[in-house]
Amino acid sequence: MIDLHSHILPGVDDGAQSLSDSLSMARMAVQQGIHRIVATPHHLNNAYENPKQSIIDRVKELNEALLREKIELEVLPGQEIRIHGEMVEGYEAGEILPVNHTPYILVEFPSNHVPRYTEKLFYDLQMKGLIPVIVHPERNQEIIERSDILYQLVKKGALTQITAASVCGDFGKKIKNFSLQLIEANQTHFIASDAHNITNRSFKMKEAFGVIGQKYGNEMVYYFEENAALVTEGMHVYKEDPERIKKKKLFHLF
Ligand code: FE
Repeated sequence: MIDLHSHILPGVDDGAQSLSDSLSMARMAVQQGIHRIVATPHHLNNAYENPKQSIIDRVKELNEALLREKIELEVLPGQEIRIHGEMVEGYEAGEILPVNHTPYILVEFPSNHVPRYTEKLFYDLQMKGLIPVIVHPERNQEIIERSDILYQLVKKGALTQITAASVCGDFGKKIKNFSLQLIEANQTHFIASDAHNITNRSFKMKEAFGVIGQKYGNEMVYYFEENAALVTEGMHVYKEDPERIKKKKLFHLF
């Protein structure tokens, strides 16, 4: 299994703080059935600054440590980019690092809203050949209240990634139900851990796929697993036309 979103690099953000934290996370990832994991430190998120080259260097060091420790996990370079107006320039300046050097970039919104310039920015990024992947839209307050915002972005080519723990209900029933609605409406393409540690923000991939398999059958599990593999190889992912989330269903949420 491939995990597209994690904070496993030591000492670069609010994820692993030390190499020993990273190794504990790596061992837990292997137990979860993960064999490749994308390290996606926060790029420019108030407190952190992780430009492309420093991530690449640190990924190399962590892979060397994993080999030494005989932990069968491969780390790939990536970045979680907080949305901002200068992303195209940042990419051109070599600061922005897509997932494993592919066209896919992980984009994070502020937790309470979606900036009005998002649609225009995504268009500009796509014109540069990049494909934005919106991370954890199910946890964004404005998207929860006005799900049409996400539908429109997906319709115009953005992809989305739901956090495994959301599917398990760790962030509450409302976020769990909304995650399932996004899956049912073809508005999400990936499940990833966004793991920060081995305690309160761990992987939950196995558990999330358990929920998804039980509710939608193994085909849905394979769909998400396959898409994660395709992204790391820079290939086209599988997607179906998104549908609007039905008002009646949404009403039940509140
Ligand atoms: Fe994250």
